[in-house]
Amino acid sequence: LPVLAIVGRPNVGKSALVNRILGRREAVVEDTPGVTRDRVTYKAEWNERRFSLVDTGGWEPDAKGIDASVAAQAEVAIDLSDAVLFVVDAKVGATATDEHVVRLLRKTKKPVFLVANKIDDARQEPEAAALWNLGLGEPHPVSAIHGRGVADLLDAVMKKLPTVSAVAKQEIGGPRRVAILGRPNVGKSSLLNKAAGEERVVVNELAGTTRDPVDEIVELGGKLWTLVDTAGIRRRVHLQQGADFYASLRTSAALEKSEVAVVVLDVTQPISVQDLNIIDLVLESGRALVLAYNKWDLLDDDRRRYLEREIEQDLAHVAWAPRVNISARTGRHLDKLVPALEQALESWDTRVPTGKFNAFITELVAEHPHPVRGGKQPRILFGTQAATRPPTFVLFTTGFLDPGYRRFITRRLREIWGFEGTPIVVNMRVRE
Ligand code: GDP
Repeated sequence: LPVLAIVGRPNVGKSALVNRILGRREAVVEDTPGVTRDRVTYKAEWNERRFSLVDTGGWEPDAKGIDASVAAQAEVAIDLSDAVLFVVDAKVGATATDEHVVRLLRKTKKPVFLVANKIDDARQEPEAAALWNLGLGEPHPVSAIHGRGVADLLDAVMKKLPTVSAVAKQEIGGPRRVAILGRPNVGKSSLLNKAAGEERVVVNELAGTTRDPVDEIVELGGKLWTLVDTAGIRRRVHLQQGADFYASLRTSAALEKSEVAVVVLDVTQPISVQDLNIIDLVLESGRALVLAYNKWDLLDDDRRRYLEREIEQDLAHVAWAPRVNISARTGRHLDKLVPALEQALESWDTRVPTGKFNAFITELVAEHPHPVRGGKQPRILFGTQAATRPPTFVLFTTGFLDPGYRRFITRRLREIWGFEGTPIVVNMRVRE
């Protein structure tokens, strides 16, 4: 889906506008600064066109941090969206805080809409006109709270918003898309530099590829790959406050447009909550996963024993992910990365024929029938693989299967087909 991002200072009415666009009856407007909302991407629709609405202002800073926050919002929005709504309180006008943002927005080639909020009736429209001097084109007067002008704004946006996102574009047959993820300092940019080297392909010369400018196409192991959101790796947003918020926004956006994720871990550090959160985001996204344990050159025997134990304890749920032990510094085992990516993608694309899948189910049920519950035993009538990327199975049953039994099925699926490097999903349809 095309991505529309919203940027603005706190209290200009971003949340009210988000609510208005989403068509929520009651605008939940949060007036307390410092609130981290957990959802920042919403599915929205206007005149039968669907798009993602990204609220980059989910992290609201205290007064000191406002400049940095708004700048970071703008940077993220420009990189990760197809069009930007820049919201200004028309009663206040643009402030010094907005200056840096305005400069960034003037430079971008993506469509920018200047939204003059809090224009509650026609008599106030001259206030909006004063915003022409920002050099961001025509101000769109709206009242997010009352809904006034929002329809016109969205009509204007739809004319400029591409139907297919350049950002999230799924290029079938193009180079496969890889996200390099990990918390700060694990060695992402070192890995990128070492692996991609200086031989970055000039993309415009590649026939038939459209590419988001924050991505890079590189040759690895004799093949081309799209590394998504390398700008987010190369150019760090230097922020103390809110850094986690923007990092997770970036991670989600990168996952959205990738097919496989390399989660880089630093073997010299204990596996942290942040590492696990990143892995959770990958699992939620349904993308293929490769784990790269970096800084192997710094590993001593003591730490190594701890590490193996940590992996067993904390990463058991992703034991299916291919693991490469690398050193971005020395180049150790970097050649193992490509086969791991290929394996993960192959699994992600795997389709099990329905006949084989049902033979598997029949055999499994014969060996280990579902336990009887309250005198009843749910039967599996039929199963099929409903989707790939990731492999998604549906079981038609006569009753709910125990979670434990479903886990057992998942385990057996992996025993038989491997699915190394991909999450798999097993759903149920209960037929009465
Ligand atoms: P990023 O924040 O994930 O992009 O991490 P960087 O690539 O900037 O790396 C953080 C620090 O770790 C830098 O000082 C790197 O030189 C160092 N580093 C990265 N990879 C390795 C490695 O494999 N071995 C060693 N010894 N240091 C590394």
